[in-house]
Amino acid sequence: LCAPGERFEMETVVIDGVPTRTWKHAPPSLRALAEIARGHGERLVTIYEDERVSYEAWYRAVARLAQEFRDRGIKKGDRIALAMRNLPEWPVAFFAATAIGAICVPLNAWWTGLELTFGLANSGCRILVCDEERLDRVLPHLPELPALESIMVTRAGALLPPAEHLEAVIGKPGDWAPLPDSAIPDVQIEPDDPATIFYTSGTTGQPKGALGSHRNLTTNIFSSAWSAVRAVLRRGDPLPEPAFKTTLLVIPLFHVTACSAGLMGALFAGHTAVYMRKWDVVKAFEIIEREKVSSTGGVPTIAWQMIEHPDREKYDLSSLEAIAYGGAPSAPELVRKIREVFGALPGNGWGMTETMATVTTHSSEDYLNRPTSAGPPVPVADLKIMNEDGTRELPVGEVGELWARGPMVVKGYWNRPDATAETFVDGWVRTGDLARLDEEGFCFIVDRAKDIIIRGGENIYSSEVENVLYDHPAVTDAALIGIPHLQLGEEPAAVVHLAPGAQATERELQDLVRSRLAGFKVPVRIVFSKETLPRNANGKILKRELKALFLPEQTAS
Ligand code: AMP
Repeated sequence: LCAPGERFEMETVVIDGVPTRTWKHAPPSLRALAEIARGHGERLVTIYEDERVSYEAWYRAVARLAQEFRDRGIKKGDRIALAMRNLPEWPVAFFAATAIGAICVPLNAWWTGLELTFGLANSGCRILVCDEERLDRVLPHLPELPALESIMVTRAGALLPPAEHLEAVIGKPGDWAPLPDSAIPDVQIEPDDPATIFYTSGTTGQPKGALGSHRNLTTNIFSSAWSAVRAVLRRGDPLPEPAFKTTLLVIPLFHVTACSAGLMGALFAGHTAVYMRKWDVVKAFEIIEREKVSSTGGVPTIAWQMIEHPDREKYDLSSLEAIAYGGAPSAPELVRKIREVFGALPGNGWGMTETMATVTTHSSEDYLNRPTSAGPPVPVADLKIMNEDGTRELPVGEVGELWARGPMVVKGYWNRPDATAETFVDGWVRTGDLARLDEEGFCFIVDRAKDIIIRGGENIYSSEVENVLYDHPAVTDAALIGIPHLQLGEEPAAVVHLAPGAQATERELQDLVRSRLAGFKVPVRIVFSKETLPRNANGKILKRELKALFLPEQTAS
């Protein structure tokens, strides 16, 4: 990434009154990162199907769109939403917004119209940049979005106002290179100014917007690269010359992992990112072979699907050097398999939306030797293990709640001082994960205290789905639990108890969830319990006991 000693230096800065160790040479803002990225000139920034966009063309589109936002009166701190699949337009709109000090709100593209409307209304977005599928979902809800002034739609057919074609401003990706050579409008941006709102669900009620800063994102460039550097330094080898690489970016950019760990580092180093419209393992093999992709991954599910696919050996995948993932627990045998099957370095990392991705990273020999660990913290992060009520730090080896601190921890939740005060304490974020640390500081994620299910990297907050089930007049008790799935890790299933004499079918309840929430949140199975659900003394449903209902011998009957 850069010469030893030159760039991986740290300094201490005061963020919101808390002295924080950070990377000294991280670009101070996303605008500064865009200028650095422009320096990669004619190298390709993205490949999407047959569209190849150079860094210079990308920069020109960013500058043109940023100018348009300014002309429409967008000021520092105004919100601009982004809702589309991974397309070359995504990083254009993201940087056009953030490089002029606006706050970009990347919305989950799998969300239903209701969920998208919640995100747009909650963040008070003035502009939405989206694709046609997201437009169709939002259109029926426009009356609920008075703050939304324009909707700029990419790759769409005929449109009616307030929707308009994004291409009318920047053209298609093939038109970006000849755009005028103008700079991004100059706006004074401080590293700790807000840059993004990424939504993450809460244990209760509606999703919460994690308010990220420019620094949160740009420090991740160094944090993500650190584990590879550490491995080389450990071996005593000189750092290799910086090399341009091609990565296959398969996880959605609306997740912090893809945006922060994927996009930021790639732009800084001049790598080429290949996007896929939709994850498809055979298409991924074709791309890896054709573009000589050197790294991919994202979530463990992707790696498993590649390993287990019967046609894998028909493709030349020898260019793969690294397959890294995080965002969900992974089986220790995955580490060994990646090495065996691809000869590539496995990598793991722990992070969450509230930390804008990387807090621990793990790769190379360290990972092969400790396959159940998510790695040690990056040098700018601190971890500690606390007791349940957060009053006492636990000694090495004991399991408790993981707390994390560092320049990647977000400022708090958008307009939610209550939730912010509960989760963020003196610069530390309470993660809701149960973990232990070993003598050398390696972190082992053991379980989750928070009630979420992670299906192939997508988080499902149980309460969100349970609340929808409770809305059915027949349901008096509902619990969402995760049942194991080899490739996805977990899948959601539900147990419900109906009011005496009331009726509901599995299909009816699934349809109800599907009408309100994204498809990945719909329980794949619903078991009807004749009894009310088992609870502890505090009235909390004992979900572990319910898991037994989904054991193979039970589900067969
Ligand atoms: P998100 O906010 O969607 O990024 O989800 C963050 C959550 O994913 C964490 O709090 C963990 O529960 C889980 N997670 C992330 N990375 C890992 C990892 N490497 N191993 C185990 N669980 C992880």
